[in-house]
Formats: sequence, structure tokens, C-alpha cells
Amino acid sequence: MTTPAQITIPTEPIGSIPRPHDLIERIAKGDSEDPSLAPLYENAIRDTIERFEATGSPVVTDGEQRKYHNFATYSVHGLPNTAPDGFKIPFSDGHTRRLSRLTRGPFRYRRYADSYLDVAMRYAHVPVKQAVISPSALSLMYPAEKIPDYSRQQFIDDLLREHETEMRRCLKKGAYKVQIDFTEGRLAVKIDPSGHLLNSFIDLNNLALSRFSLEERRRIGVHTCPGNDFDSTHSADVDYAELLPSLFELKAGNFYVALAGERDRRHALRIIRKYRKPDQRVFVGVTAPVDPHIETPEEVRDRVLEASEYIPIEQLGTTDDCGFSPFSDDTSTSRDTAFAKIQARVLGTRLAEKLIGGH
Ligand SMILES: [Zn+2]
Repeated sequence: MTTPAQITIPTEPIGSIPRPHDLIERIAKGDSEDPSLAPLYENAIRDTIERFEATGSPVVTDGEQRKYHNFATYSVHGLPNTAPDGFKIPFSDGHTRRLSRLTRGPFRYRRYADSYLDVAMRYAHVPVKQAVISPSALSLMYPAEKIPDYSRQQFIDDLLREHETEMRRCLKKGAYKVQIDFTEGRLAVKIDPSGHLLNSFIDLNNLALSRFSLEERRRIGVHTCPGNDFDSTHSADVDYAELLPSLFELKAGNFYVALAGERDRRHALRIIRKYRKPDQRVFVGVTAPVDPHIETPEEVRDRVLEASEYIPIEQLGTTDDCGFSPFSDDTSTSRDTAFAKIQARVLGTRLAEKLIGGH
């Protein structure tokens, strides 16, 4: 008698966890890099990883506790050749966030994300993934009016080299996955419905991804979402039909696609089924950080079963729709709620595995 092969559906977080209140208050008072904050950061990371592991999550992150002030500008925060009045991201509740603007060349990162990995791996007992910002997001730092003696092409060359360096450092240090945050993909369609901006982003990111081998790309993923800040989004009204066909042109092995918060999940799943490449695994969002309701494991299970009607089980994974606080001062979701949702994701994915695998 043969026993059927056990089916495993991988489940991974996106990245951020709300920071502890004492840390947020101290950062608000002054310099986020003040050395006296080191013990607070260290405690926040240790506590995050402990609580992450307690949920049963087979892969964890450091909760981006040290990514000040957000997922997009951590690598350039504090650079002397930047100004705060860069690209503006408008959210659906009326508030905005801004990227920084490059004022002169050359462009260099101030820090690489593998420095976060160093600390996280000291505490973690399970694999750690690391999120990095996409070249396309940082490309928005170059101003429209151009910088004298530093062309856009020189900037792009420097940007791609810095991004590749960051990716390689994370891969080399043993990141389980390196996830490129590409939230501006869906936003690009909203800004430019012709699709030109989106395609330029895809081309730029593919220039970077082409520098990696097929084997490396199996550990590389891309995250897409409609944004998440103060329980508000920036591009949820953009139809996935305008984004996903281009998204799957990216030369990455894994895609982390927000789905739980979509108005019509089956519409999105039909597009995924049509455009996903055979060697691309799709991690579908089964919990929605913008929604205060804590999903039950049964709700998550049903979402996995629904997705399995469209995506072959060996190419399916689950994730959260987004990080729980991509911007470090976002207190709209509590740490307790974030971990409860993560636990539901883990338990619900296991329930679906049992049903599909018959064990
Ligand atoms: Zn996101």
C-alpha cells in the first residue's frame, strides 16, 4: 500500500508588524537613529520574533521594527543629498505620504536591509525572510526637472547596482526569501491609466532581476498590494486586470498578491490563472490588515480552497495582504490584532492542507 504524498501549502508573512508604543513615542520625539534607542529596538525585534514563532508561522520576519520610517525609504533615510519634498502618495482617506527627492548625485544607499537580517537571525529559530524596496519605487526619487551633472541614466545605473548589492547581501546571509515590495505597481495604473508608467516600472525591475540566476530567482519574490496605511489604501479601485498581466512578466519565482481585501476575489483569481507562468508560485493574501475584523481559521481555509480552484496546489501559497504597518508610526492596527491574524493564516492554511491532502 502506498500512502499519498503529503501536500504542503507554504505560508509566509509580508513583513511589517506594528511597533511597540514606547518605541513609536520615542521616535516621534526625535532622532530615529539616536543610539539610546538601541535597547528599545532590540527588545522590539526580540519580542516580535518570539510572538511570530508562537503563532506557528513557519517563516518569520523582524517585523521591520528598525525600518524607519517606512518600507520604501529605509535605505536612503538620512542621506545628505535628499530633500523631504519628493513623490506624493495619496491615500483613499485623504492623507498623503511622501518619498524623498534626490538633490544631487551620486546616488548611494545609506543602509542595506541585510543589516536587519543579522539581528533577526540571532533571535529566530525558524527561517527569516527579508523585504527590500523595489528599484521602481526609488526611481521616483529622481526629479522631473533633472539634476545638473548627474543624468537620469547615471542615476538608474547607480540605483540598479545598489539594489543588486542589497539583494545579494540578503541572499548570501541566508534570507529564506527576499521579497521586493512593489506596491507602486498598482498605483502606477491609477496615475497613468495608459499603462506606460507601469510598463516602465516592470522593465526597470526586470533589468535588476535579470542579474540573478534562475536558482536565485526561486528565492526572490515580488509583493503587490493596493497600499496599507492607517487602514486606508492608495489604489484598491484599480482593476487587477490592468496590473496582473504585466506583473507576471517580472522575472521572479514568487508573487505575494493581496487578495483577501479584494471586492471580487474570483475575478482576480481568473486573471492569475490566465497569466501566471508555470514556474511562478503565487502566495495569495488570506488576511486583510486594513480590516479590523480578525479572520477565523475557517474563513482562511475557505479562501485557500477557493484559490486552489484556480492555482495548482503545488504553485499555491498563502500570505497576508500586506504588512501590518508599512509606515512606522501607523498605530491603526495593534500588535495583538496583527499576530491574531497571522495565527489565523497559519491555522487556516493547515486546515486547507488537510482537506486537500486528505490527511
Ligand atoms: Zn503591501
